[in-house]
Amino acid sequence: MRRKLAAGNWKMNGTGAALAEVTALAAAHPAPAVDLLLCPPATLVERMARAADGTAIAVGGQDCHAAAAGAHTGDISAAMLRDAGASHVILGHSERRTDHAETDAIVRAKTEAALAGGLIAVVCVGETEAQRDAGQTLGVVGSQLTGSLPEGVTGATVVVAYEPVWAIGTGRVPTLAQIAEVHDFLRAELVARFGEAGQGVRLLYGGSVKPDNAADIFATSNVDGALVGGASLKAADFSAIITAL
Ligand code: PEP
Repeated sequence: MRRKLAAGNWKMNGTGAALAEVTALAAAHPAPAVDLLLCPPATLVERMARAADGTAIAVGGQDCHAAAAGAHTGDISAAMLRDAGASHVILGHSERRTDHAETDAIVRAKTEAALAGGLIAVVCVGETEAQRDAGQTLGVVGSQLTGSLPEGVTGATVVVAYEPVWAIGTGRVPTLAQIAEVHDFLRAELVARFGEAGQGVRLLYGGSVKPDNAADIFATSNVDGALVGGASLKAADFSAIITAL
């Protein structure tokens, strides 16, 4: 049985004042029936981890370098995130794939580094609108999944997030049938490659999840939770999504 996961991606939002949202969220969910994860910008990881200490909220980074250390100005390693109190890291988010030209091979190398550093990797895949319109969705997400995941993946080490690029931050959401089609496909791909371990890998949906559409999305086949951007910034919104899980 896969435990559900509500994960928040703060992207490049938030300074110290925003940590009040963490305190409010923890107070609203002292013993949640689902796992909770917040991924703030790197500058807040350590402070958020301290604010979340003793609560049900886990903290993650939004990226890590594939190397363990070295001459990579501006980057952070998996070990640094761990040291700051993170347990997870988002990898291969479409904004990273676009803004930083991250290929599947790069995402795979980062995932290997994250796992070696003791982090759980939340690996993102998703098609553009043009790719969906061209009927390429399953081919695209299948090849991203194959290329981005290393060998030996299990539910304890990796979470996969399906995030259609055209749904991120746009208020547009695929139909439930479209979400089910992709999630069922990803599950089959995971099981084909990793065997029984593939059944344990949680599949999150991400892209304009809001309090008013969360319950329907969470009731969809092979959806084990959500990766939430904008609606994770305010405790009240994220809390309503968590309750819908
Ligand atoms: C995201 O950042 O991963 C995301 C899904 O954003 P939003 O919920 O704002 O669409």
